[in-house]
Amino acid sequence: MPKASKQLSEFVQRVKKEPFEHALDEPVAMWTETEILNGEKVKAAVAIIRTRGCYWSIKEGCTMCGYFNDTVPGGVETEFLEQQWIEIINHFSDYKYVKIYTSGSFLDPTEIPKDFANMIMTDLVNYGVERVLIESLPEFVHERHMQYDKSPKIEVAIGLESATPIVLDKCVNKRLTEKGFKRACKAVHEIGGTVKAYILLKPPYLNEGHGIEDTIYSAKFAAPYVDKISINPVNIQKNTVGERMWRNREWRPPWLWSVIEVIEKCEKIGTRIYSDPTGGGTQRGAHNCGKCDSKILESLKDNRITGAKIKKPNCECRKLWKNLVEQAKYRRDGSEPEGYRRGFVG
Ligand code: SF4
Ligand SMILES: [Zn+2]
Repeated sequence: MPKASKQLSEFVQRVKKEPFEHALDEPVAMWTETEILNGEKVKAAVAIIRTRGCYWSIKEGCTMCGYFNDTVPGGVETEFLEQQWIEIINHFSDYKYVKIYTSGSFLDPTEIPKDFANMIMTDLVNYGVERVLIESLPEFVHERHMQYDKSPKIEVAIGLESATPIVLDKCVNKRLTEKGFKRACKAVHEIGGTVKAYILLKPPYLNEGHGIEDTIYSAKFAAPYVDKISINPVNIQKNTVGERMWRNREWRPPWLWSVIEVIEKCEKIGTRIYSDPTGGGTQRGAHNCGKCDSKILESLKDNRITGAKIKKPNCECRKLWKNLVEQAKYRRDGSEPEGYRRGFVG
């Protein structure tokens, strides 16, 4: 491994902390959210099963990802996974769209045993679920991992994060190849499923302007291979490189103006594209000046659900953001201290 990559992977591991002790028979979380199913607005049920977590996070991990905080080092026995599932499915009657997350890859059989996955899929069909969304790294997306006795229509969310190799390697610390991503998308389509790609906006180390450029490039790259794209503005998760840099004022999450910019520039890429920023409007999530944030978040939600054009409120802070983006080419990446932002006048 080249020296710089080795240092980054060591850094990612160093800032991690051992997760708190968690109850093994209780899922991480359950909630409902508004979604679109066959063109109609529906309520979708979402659950996160507590597992051993992402294999990549155990090995190295991504710079912005704090999912390991919810996992159990050493793993969760199938018996406990099943107990979690009973609790989840009891809350899942009357939902046609269900999302099952794991803080890792549902299709990794060492994280979610195949028989357990089969049981989940069978139960979902019996409960009348029409579509299930699961997440996976591309390396586990194979037909043999998606063969169940019966299942709702499967949607696989794949974290492409960035299609720029140097950003993926040096800013995200994720090993994913173009070939591997395309192969995984094809495998999902071959079993009659659909693919949702996650693309980051402004991973750690990138400045505002370079973040926007990278996201637009990545969305255009992914569009021909996927059925929808979710733009994920990077938010600050606990015990991550992102958090360390944010605390040191070396980097901050993107502005909400940047989210709008990306969606508008990608309107014609031929694939549904939207953003539902985690922690939007807070210091740890994508945010603006604080005065215009809620209006933009409302508009992004409307855009996600109905496809309506995003409304841009009149706010002074847009000028600051614009200048910041224009300066991207002069300003080195990873150098946007809050002090600079506060004192910035044009
Ligand atoms: S972002 Fe995905 S691949 Fe990266 S550590 Fe987190 S769960 Fe694993
Ligand atoms: Zn504002």
